[in-house]
Amino acid sequence: MQPPVSSLCVYCGSSMGARPIYREAAVALGRTLGEAGITLIYGGGSIGLMGATAQACLGAGGRVTGIIPTFLDELEVGMTGLTELIRTENMHQRKQRMAELSDGFVVLPGGLGTLDETFEILTWRQLQLHQKPILLLNIAGYWDHFVHLLEHQAAEGFVKPQHLELFQIVDAVDDVLPALAANPPASDDVRSKWT
Ligand code: AMP
Repeated sequence: MQPPVSSLCVYCGSSMGARPIYREAAVALGRTLGEAGITLIYGGGSIGLMGATAQACLGAGGRVTGIIPTFLDELEVGMTGLTELIRTENMHQRKQRMAELSDGFVVLPGGLGTLDETFEILTWRQLQLHQKPILLLNIAGYWDHFVHLLEHQAAEGFVKPQHLELFQIVDAVDDVLPALAANPPASDDVRSKWT
């Protein structure tokens, strides 16, 4: 079966989180992408949910492209055995490259770095710099507080109500590919405007 996208960026924690369910979801997502023939684009680290996702994708015979700034390569213990490892000069280039190479974005639980990446890709979509799907993978309700924050911002008049539709929420890894099939990247988004 033809996958709904050919590459997918996964933003997620460089930690494993407090509960095994987070790691299990990362492994299931990596395996799902590998089995579907969808290239995983991610931050290139070997630790936390990042490493678990990449390892599982590779283990399922998938392709994984890691993108890591040189200074973080040692800190995050750059993953070995990736299909491709791209080193960048800084964080900005890393995030831009990750976005350019991806047909869509999935956000697993994560910390401040994950939030930064998520807000950036949301704001780029808000500014119509791209029209690629953004999915929050709401494992064990992890993103509920994030969604409540955005709803509060909309209620207080700082976020336009339609901007709450810049992303979709899915509760389980099995829902990711069907959600992407239902909302594929816009066909005219052949070249996002940041390139
Ligand atoms: P975290 O969610 O904080 O565990 O980080 C997940 C990923 O985001 C890792 O690859 C980090 O390198 C990256 N990251 C951490 N801090 C930042 C930041 N301030 N801006 C952008 N990315 C970050």
